[in-house]
Amino acid sequence: MEPLGFSQLKAKYSYFFDPNIKIKCEYGWQKIIEDFCAAIALVLDNGDYKDFIIKQLRQKVGILTIDYDGGDDLIKEIVDFTERLSYNTCEVCGDSGELYAQAKWAKWSLYKTLCHEHAIQFYYYEIKIRKSSK
Ligand SMILES: [Zn+2]
Repeated sequence: MEPLGFSQLKAKYSYFFDPNIKIKCEYGWQKIIEDFCAAIALVLDNGDYKDFIIKQLRQKVGILTIDYDGGDDLIKEIVDFTERLSYNTCEVCGDSGELYAQAKWAKWSLYKTLCHEHAIQFYYYEIKIRKSSK
């Protein structure tokens, strides 16, 4: 189920959201998405972006993915920055986190960015992506 805050966000920024937009992630990323929308709103106020639209915000392979049409380099920079913030933010609670997988031989769909506590709670395994295996 979608957290309450997301429907408020959709209402507030409906002028640059696709009418059928889906926000598919957990509450821990709401602050990131709120800040993203505020930054986008500011940019749109100061430029000609009539073709810009956000189509979807979702968790994909453990990180936040923003699908949109239109925009320019500045918009892309904000999108990239926002997506990178999710790499280190627990999707459940918003604390600092890292990428975990739900099984030791994970499928991509089972990846999730979590803090240590939530990784234990949901039985996720730490992924040592950038380190060589012992
Ligand atoms: Zn957490």
